[in-house]
Amino acid sequence: MAGGQTRGLTAGKAVQFTTIKARLCPTQAQAELFEKTFGCCRYIWNRMLADQQRFYIETDKHFIPTPAKYKNEAPFLREVDNQALIQEHNKLSQAFRVFFKNPECFGPPKFKKKKTDKDSFTACNHKFESGPTIYITKDGIRMTKAGIVKAKFPRRPRNGWKLKRITVEKTKSGKYYCYILYGYEVKTPEAVAPAPETTLGLKYSMGHFYVADNGETADPPHWLRQSYEKIVKIQRQLNRMQPGSKNYLDTVQKYRALHEHIANQRKDFIHKQSSRIANGWDAVCVRDDSMRDVSQKKILPGNALDSGFGMFRECLRYKLARQGKTLIVVDRAALTTRTCSACGFVRNDRPHQKGAWACPKCGARQDREVNAAKNIKAMGLDQYFNQEAARKSA
Ligand SMILES: [Zn+2]
Repeated sequence: MAGGQTRGLTAGKAVQFTTIKARLCPTQAQAELFEKTFGCCRYIWNRMLADQQRFYIETDKHFIPTPAKYKNEAPFLREVDNQALIQEHNKLSQAFRVFFKNPECFGPPKFKKKKTDKDSFTACNHKFESGPTIYITKDGIRMTKAGIVKAKFPRRPRNGWKLKRITVEKTKSGKYYCYILYGYEVKTPEAVAPAPETTLGLKYSMGHFYVADNGETADPPHWLRQSYEKIVKIQRQLNRMQPGSKNYLDTVQKYRALHEHIANQRKDFIHKQSSRIANGWDAVCVRDDSMRDVSQKKILPGNALDSGFGMFRECLRYKLARQGKTLIVVDRAALTTRTCSACGFVRNDRPHQKGAWACPKCGARQDREVNAAKNIKAMGLDQYFNQEAARKSA
């Protein structure tokens, strides 16, 4: 799996990031150290968060103590990589920054529980004269406290990639993975100006994942639906079993493995769709639909990708950006479904959920979703060119 983001687009050079996900095969001792590190990270997160809350109530000020403060009363923290603890401090600070900036969309940071939260830790690479603290070997990854951990790489870093940090994660089914983040310099891409014929309008769709203004849809693949049907079946089996019995535990394991499998399938689908579109079009227009509302709806087998649309949009954004292209986001209040894309007539009501409607003014027959995608594209391009004009005259 590869992801990338572009940052610092200045002076002709930019740094892009990409991730290699490697499967880890730790020794018994290394696995025990990982477990300890996961536990310490949760512990330090919860302690820092509790102190932040207390401090906030007492003084009305936001402050997070550093991990070093806790080491005397909790000496076991010294047994794990200090970098991982520092990263927890960074993550907590970041979670508060996001929350303060946009409290309506993001809740405040929560306490972590062993049962529900991911087992993971992150460590940054530091370069000393003696060499970097983290590096990869032919068949392993060298980490600060664990030493060289055996690993399988799906691909190798290219020349010039710099290892920035790693995240070690244990999945619910007990597998260990390492996400290795690399940074590399690229030339800033030339900005691509959109034209109507090279711009795609996309509407989020319950049934099709998205519908494009040219009528194209991304129908979630058959196998994704099948996986969901399987999961519903296992859930039903679990309901009938005696909790704690051997059968029950085996089935829980199966259930977790299938969940992971679906998450991977979904990610794969989203990456392929977003790459295809970002490579094929010069600009993409979408509506700023709140994905929070969407993901809070119950996920049914039929619309298995609901919660993936926010991720899809973000993938599109950075995949377009690294080619100098733009994702144009139209305001969520725009009347994209009610407006006739042929003549601009606006209906008083929303058209019926399914099927087509005939415009009372110009008589054009409009498929509900394709029509909306056409409007999103037209409104998006208008918005883009208005902003460009305003920028040039300023
Ligand atoms: Zn019309």
